This record gives sequence, structure tokens and C-alpha cells, in this order.
Amino acid sequence: MALLQISEPGQSPDPHQRRIAVGIDLGTTHSLVAAVRHGSAECLPDEQGRVILPSAVRYMVDERGQTRRHIGFEALAAQAEDSQNTIVSVKRFMGRRLADLPDAGRLPYQFEDQPGMVAVKTVAGVKSPVEVSAEILASLRQRAEDTFNDDLFGAVITVPAYFDDAQRQATKDAAQMAGLNVLRLLNEPTAAAIAYGLDNGAEGLYAIYDLGGGTFDISLLQLSRGVFEVVATGGDSALGGDDFDHLLADAALADAKMEAVTPQDKRTVLVAARRTKEKLSTDGSAHLSCMLSGGMLSASITRERLAELAKPLIDKSLASVKRVLRDAKIKPDEVKGVVMVGGSTRMPAVRDAVGAFFGQAPLTDLNPDEVVALGAAIQANQLAGNNAQGELLLLDVLPLSLGLETMGGLVERIIPRNTPIPCALAQDFTTFKDGQTALAVHVVQGEREQVEFCRSLARFELRGIPPMAAGAARIRVSFQVDADGLLSVSAKEQLSGVEASVVIKPSYGLTDDQVAHMLREGFTTAAADMKDRALREARVEAERMLEATRTALAADGDLLSTEDRARIDGLMTQIGQRCDRGDIVALEAAIKALADGTEAFAAERMNRSIRQALAGRKLDQV
Ligand code: ADP
Ligand code: MG
Repeated sequence: MALLQISEPGQSPDPHQRRIAVGIDLGTTHSLVAAVRHGSAECLPDEQGRVILPSAVRYMVDERGQTRRHIGFEALAAQAEDSQNTIVSVKRFMGRRLADLPDAGRLPYQFEDQPGMVAVKTVAGVKSPVEVSAEILASLRQRAEDTFNDDLFGAVITVPAYFDDAQRQATKDAAQMAGLNVLRLLNEPTAAAIAYGLDNGAEGLYAIYDLGGGTFDISLLQLSRGVFEVVATGGDSALGGDDFDHLLADAALADAKMEAVTPQDKRTVLVAARRTKEKLSTDGSAHLSCMLSGGMLSASITRERLAELAKPLIDKSLASVKRVLRDAKIKPDEVKGVVMVGGSTRMPAVRDAVGAFFGQAPLTDLNPDEVVALGAAIQANQLAGNNAQGELLLLDVLPLSLGLETMGGLVERIIPRNTPIPCALAQDFTTFKDGQTALAVHVVQGEREQVEFCRSLARFELRGIPPMAAGAARIRVSFQVDADGLLSVSAKEQLSGVEASVVIKPSYGLTDDQVAHMLREGFTTAAADMKDRALREARVEAERMLEATRTALAADGDLLSTEDRARIDGLMTQIGQRCDRGDIVALEAAIKALADGTEAFAAERMNRSIRQALAGRKLDQV
């Protein structure tokens, strides 16, 4: 979904009324919480001064049978000895079924497929990924509340741009479980771009290169008129810093002609390799040493050696970048700026390769571990209304119009695209037939005039409308889109108060390509659509006229002479025939002919009903 800036007219709030809002990067390996303090965003440290919280939760049962859990570093430390009950990388399970996890068999967990989402069996019971994520979020919330010694107003939580509806909803559920008020979910690449202030800079295309511990993501963002739009995303869900660790560990073992025999050996050498790798981001050479069951492993590694080892993997990431650019029909030199995200982009070899690819130095001023959380904090601060006068408030906009199907398969647009969200709009509708007691509501998304070319989002029925003449019922249909693009539609008959509603998430099911396609199609076919719409509208009008005439004939047909009746029947047949053809002028003429041809009959009916109403009553009773 795109972002739109609107200026905030309100003044800067009183410092005592400042609302505390944080940004949370709920990461696969690490999570962070940040907030705007003293005018700039910063990550909040724990009591030991560490800003990073490992995304790990260990479940335990103590001697008295009480369930306990460790979160973060403490949990991670026990990962090797209690891997079954120590859940790491839970982000990969969010909103996923067991069938969605191709590597589930290689993980140390006992999975249980539950409706909607996989869960993990632990000593403390079956834990859903939502619960595990909620533990991490609650820990960060506690950290923030301790830091400010105050309650939190709300949080912006980041999610990968490719997260689907179920994964986003699972993230929101986790936040709610952790007692957080979610101001909004924000795409990670967009958060990184905001952290660098790109939303206040030059319009154009930006690439966000995110190489973390286990995943690589590339996103292209388009900034225009203050609106960030995700143009394309790609990457590799099995490429990250962990792979460099493996290569380095294997190289060190091969140099020393040693082997990591036990699982403990393997873990030990990987930990050492990771430490060495990270050291090589600042030093020209480093030592890898650790104690294995077969003896002491000791190797000296240079930065060049690591770069050589890493090259095939870095090239693999650039192949993903190329693919995304090609699909989006963008050349590398069209990209205005490149933002580096993720701990692995600290590696000079990665920076050099990315810089060479795009022909420009990537943005690396901000800490690549923190940049997503910092961007989320900036937006949280704005959403909480803490921005100073003249600052801009970032809002999402609806990527596609939302509307309803009306008679004739036409779309009545209720909320036009590019409307900033949250938003709410309502429109009144009425019944088409006499005595109609139910109304089918069909919610659609798209730019076309005809229902069949839009995307169907939901259908529901409003039942129990009291029988009334066609057009007498007043049905108010309200559309409401919250800050996360969650749409609720309700229909209420105003006289009787009967009501029905549905909640839908309109945009998440669509890829950006699909959105772009629907927009393009809407623009190119607009003229043809207008003609088609006019024809359909005429058909609806014809249908309505025929229905009204039939009702009138059934009730008061005896008022007509045989010839008049035949004439009216003829006019009705003519409409029926012209409805089937596509000639709108002829159809409109036939409608007018029927209207004119039944005028006298309508007047007669009116007289009769007045006579009936007055019959048997004295003048003073009227
Ligand atoms: P994620 O987004 O997957 O949670 P991060 O962005 O925190 O992950 O990145 C973690 C990865 O970054 C790890 O593989 C870690 O070894 C690597 N990393 C962290 N610091 C450095 C460094 N100084 N040099 C090289 N790699 C680093
Ligand atoms: Mg990350």
C-alpha cells in the first residue's frame, strides 16, 4: 500500500501531554524497540545496555509445576540444550500452516497443525506463533514503559512487504495479546526509507537491500508527491548471514584438517565463525579459535578470504535484485538511492558489490540493525500526534477504489482510490422492487465501471427489511477503512433499524502488480466503460419502468380501453426488444415513449385512488 503525506494543522502538543509511541521491528532473529526522544529516533536499550532482543522464547516448567519462560538472550543461551522448547525464528511460522513450511522436518520442534496456523508443542503446552511473538512484544513493551516510566500510547510494528493478509493479521493479534495498541503495521522497507528521511527528499525510485541473518529481501519503492508505493519485492528466504557463517566454519575446519563431529561441535564452530565474520567487517584479519571434541581449532582469516567465500552468495542476492528490476522494467541507474538494511550489510564485500551494481554508494549512515525500528518510531511519533507544527503526517492511501454492485452489474464507487486512510464514507441506497425484504450487498474493488472487471471482496445480505414500495426503503451502506486497510462494510435500513455487516481486508490479497494492472486497465478503458455504464443504467431504468407499469396494470388495468391497453403492451414489448440490443439512443427513446404513453393512465389511477380515499366520508372529515 502506498503512503501519502498530509500536513497536520494541529499545533505541537503540550510536552506534558506527549503521547509515548514506539516503533517495533519484530525480526526473525532480532527484535528492537525505538522511540523519538529529544527530537530524534533512538533504539531503547535493556538494563545491560543492549538494544537488540534475540527473537527467542524458551518455555519451562519449574519444580512446583509452574510454567515459566525466558525471552531473548537467556532463551538463546539455552537453545542448544533445550531446542525443543526454545522457539527461535517464530516469524517464519506466523500465519502459516504446516504445509507452508517446507523445512519443518529439519526443525527441532513438535509441530501441531491447528486450524489457521501451525503451533508448537512445548513442556508448557501448545504454543501458537502468535503467543510466542506476543512474549517478545510484551518484553519490548515492558522495556519501553520502564524507560519512560509511563504507559504506552501505541506502537507501529513492521512487517515484510511481502507478508500476506494472514501473516499481518497474526502480527496484529500478537500485538493485541501483548497489550499494545497497534497504530499501524508498516512495511519494513518503507520504515527504512523513512528512517533515512527519503520521504522528505527527491521523488523517484529507491531500492531497499535487506540482508539479515537468514533472509534476503529486495524492495523497490517509488516516492511521488510524498507518496511511497511498493513497486516490487523479491528476494531469497534462504539466504543470509548464517550462510556466511557456514562457509567460514567449513573453510576454517578444512584449513586445520579437522571435522566438527558432534552437534555441539557444529554449533561451537558456527558461533566462532560468526564472531570472526563480524570482526572482519572492521578489521583486515581475525582469528577463529574454539575448542572442539577433536581438539583446538585455530585459523587466521583475512577479510579478502571471507569476501572470496561470500562472493557466490552475494552474487546470488544481486541476481534476485536483477530479476526484480527486470520485472519492474527498471534499469539500475534509474534508482535514486539504495538503502542498506540488516546486520549482514555491514560486510564491506556486500557494500562494495551493491555499490558497484547500482553505480552509487549505498546509504549506510544508520545502523543497519536499527534502521527499520527507527523508521517505525518516527512514524509512530507522527501518528500519535507528537509532530511539531508544519511537520508531515504519513498516511497510507487506498490503492484501489472500493464500491458496491448496483443494478445492472454496475459499480457505485463509495471510496475513491488514493483516499488517505483511515476513512469512512456512507451512501444511501433503496430497494428496486415493491415489497422487497432483502438486499444483496456485493463489495468490490477496482477502477472499472462494471462489476465483472472488478475484484469481488465480499457478499452479504441485509434481511428483514419491512415490505415497502420500491424506492421507499432507506438503506445506508457505510464503508470504514482502518489504519491497516481493514475494511468493514455495514448496511442499515433506517426505518426498521435492521442491520448487517462484514469485515474484509481489501488490499493484502493483491500483489502490487495486480493493483498496477487494475489501475492501468481502469484508465485505458474509461471511455468505453462510460458508454457501457450509460447503457446499463438505461437498462436498469427500463426494467424499473416495466416493473412499475406491470404493477399498475395488475391493479388498475380495468381503467383502460382495449386499444389503450394494446398500445401500452406494444410500448412495453418495444422496450424489451431494445434492451437486448446495444443501442442506447433507441432504448432511451422507448423508455420515454412508455412514460409518455402511460401518462393519461397514471392520471386516471390517481383519480381513482382519491375517489376511493374519499368514498363514504363527509367533507369535514377530509
Ligand atoms: P534479521 O533481520 O534476520 O533478524 P539482522 O538484520 O539482525 O537479522 O542480521 C543478523 C545477521 O547480521 C547475522 O547473520 C549477523 O552475523 C550479521 N551481522 C551482524 N553484525 C555484523 C557485522 N558487524 N558484520 C557482518 N555481519 C554482521
Ligand atoms: Mg531484519
